[in-house]
Amino acid sequence: MPWEGILGHDLIAEQFVSAEAAGRIAGSYLFIGQEGIGKATFAKALIMALACQRSENQLKACGKCISCVQALAGTHPDVEIVQKPAERTTIPLEALIGSPDQRLRAGLCWRLLLRPQLASRKFAVLLDADHLSEEAANCLLKTLEEPPPGAVLILVGTTLERQLPTIRSRCQVIRFSPLTDTMIKEILQTEELQNGQEITDSTLAEIARVAQGSLAKARLFLDQELTSFRSSLFKMLAERPLRGVQLTRETIGIVEAAGKEPSLRRARLRLVLDLSIDFFRAKLFESHGVRHPTDETLAHAIDTWSASPEQITRCLEYSLDARAGVDRNANLGILVDAWTAKIERA
Ligand SMILES: [Zn+2]
Repeated sequence: MPWEGILGHDLIAEQFVSAEAAGRIAGSYLFIGQEGIGKATFAKALIMALACQRSENQLKACGKCISCVQALAGTHPDVEIVQKPAERTTIPLEALIGSPDQRLRAGLCWRLLLRPQLASRKFAVLLDADHLSEEAANCLLKTLEEPPPGAVLILVGTTLERQLPTIRSRCQVIRFSPLTDTMIKEILQTEELQNGQEITDSTLAEIARVAQGSLAKARLFLDQELTSFRSSLFKMLAERPLRGVQLTRETIGIVEAAGKEPSLRRARLRLVLDLSIDFFRAKLFESHGVRHPTDETLAHAIDTWSASPEQITRCLEYSLDARAGVDRNANLGILVDAWTAKIERA
């Protein structure tokens, strides 16, 4: 059985079980790994187990004590969870140190200093650590340098490069690996069955392959429309001359088909750009004589495009820039226009 039902991160769980048994849980951790692989789920489960009133050194939350019940309900007085609001580009300062009229009398840093009420110590999870502004990071430094006794703060981000050096150097870094295809298939199958849906083995296999280790991506690909869009996107990217107008139209189309909710549209565009990044990256590897194991659709598309390494690199950079633009909450229409215009010229 995987630790607390979370697939794929048993080795990390073992590290924490030993650390807890030895009384060596650190004050601050930085969880790193690609999106959608369970880092936040793991962080929350870890805190629930650490806070559980009946857990006996094996880091197993009982799920029934008052501490577990409140942690599950998101109302635990000793557990703070902060994340970037969807409409903001960075984590607001007030989430860490309180609004201007409540400076240092509210926010995560202040709450960590309070006396624990239910658990024996205070806990906090800071999701979206990639989106810490320098100012917000500076506010965190004091907490990271002199953590309140026993407090545990977990920062969750995607790559080490995206964290400020001052933060990186003050946390114990824990690296999470992508999930295997088998794990993704197993999770999706269970979830779909719970929803009363049946999913064929071949569809599962295809989704797992294109999701590249990310369960969050795999869930998006459950939508058949997206799987077919993936094939047509690769075709459009490989075609020369590249038809920018068509690429723009189809991209906007798939983004708008996600519905009116801005966060869903952003998730769609992020996926389109991730797919494009996969495409250019695979092509770049191939131009250096390295063939990564890729699926047929992608392999066929990169074979039909002949381009110089410089061209490929430029296209890859433009796509990475556009991807960063989505995270900065840039206007999606303008972003897509600029991205397609640039790769058309490249
Ligand atoms: Zn419990």
